[in-house]
Amino acid sequence: MRIDKGKLKYAADTALTLLVVLGTLSLAWIGLTKTESIPVSAKPKTGETTIIQGDTVIVIDAGHGGFDGGATGVNTGVPEAGLNLEVAKLLEEKLKKCGFTVIMTRTDENALGSTKSEDMDARRRIMELDQVDICVSIHMNKFRDSTVSGPMVFYMRGSEEGKALAEHVMGNICELTGRPLRSANPEDLFVLRVPKAPSVLVECGFLSNAADEAKLMTGEYRNTLAEVIAQGIAEYLAAAKNGDT
Ligand SMILES: [Zn+2]
Repeated sequence: MRIDKGKLKYAADTALTLLVVLGTLSLAWIGLTKTESIPVSAKPKTGETTIIQGDTVIVIDAGHGGFDGGATGVNTGVPEAGLNLEVAKLLEEKLKKCGFTVIMTRTDENALGSTKSEDMDARRRIMELDQVDICVSIHMNKFRDSTVSGPMVFYMRGSEEGKALAEHVMGNICELTGRPLRSANPEDLFVLRVPKAPSVLVECGFLSNAADEAKLMTGEYRNTLAEVIAQGIAEYLAAAKNGDT
């Protein structure tokens, strides 16, 4: 475990308090209540020593960009690159509001280089920084079978911390979508292998599925997705500081 659990305690508790409030407010309109799902161990406590917030550094990697649009929507042809950036920016806003330090791999529509290898090198330099505590990559999926739908979360094969982080994020996403709990999946991918910190790849949905595409095209759904991903990260951090990830 790379995370300094003592230093995390205040930031994670405060973050979770904010997220519970935000989550409850925003999920109320779709008829869900979020508060029952917060584990007892993650509930905010009072009387903790105040430390400087922002010690927890989270990298958000919006997949693709520029010459590389990624997957495209089955009906609209929308490239995932722009949707990834939208979700990434919303996630940045929510995590910053909680006091976490956020580093974005990209903040506009451009790639990080003029070739794929330049782009990957630039992402690598950010993701492998020593001070990074969590890395989350945002993508949209596609598959030849257009009936396959729903978000998926991947973690680096063999990483217990990555698995725990992925399960917290996936659990929150499944509550949002009302799907049966889908497992987080072990994989060996660039964005999971490069970071020294626990890392997850969130595939927000399948652009090859018409219903997923329609949902992902709406700002409300992207906002709620960003919120539940942030909630999963905060839950993981709260559990990590208690040593029960
Ligand atoms: Zn992608």
